[in-house]
Amino acid sequence: MDCLFCKITAGEIPAKKIYEDELVVAFHDIAPQAPVHFLVIPKKHISTLNDLTEADRELAGHILYTAQRLANELGCEQGYRVTMNCNELGGQTVYHIHMHVLGQRQLTWPPG
Ligand code: 5GP
Repeated sequence: MDCLFCKITAGEIPAKKIYEDELVVAFHDIAPQAPVHFLVIPKKHISTLNDLTEADRELAGHILYTAQRLANELGCEQGYRVTMNCNELGGQTVYHIHMHVLGQRQLTWPPG
């Protein structure tokens, strides 16, 4: 499958990995939008949030838990944001689900 994040998971494309276990990989975003900006992705290919199934409930929770744990390990105790963009109007550009974690600057609302 021609998927950028599957290739990062497989080690075929380099990334600055922060964490990896049997279910997920976390790595720094190539174009950071905050002093801390990393992505948490499932190793399993899931194209969009809409493709999650009942069977992925534990995986989805693990992605969120990993995001908060790493955010705190990387010094974002004062606050951070997690985001998953879904499909074109949601601003998704890579079609392998990923949770953005942004921190260490004042984030504003609403997002663009
Ligand atoms: P999306 O727009 O789909 O929500 O987010 C995709 C994210 O992946 C973007 O923030 C983009 O900078 C990041 N990204 C795209 N290509 C690469 C890459 O090759 N390596 C890394 N580390 N991040 C990437």
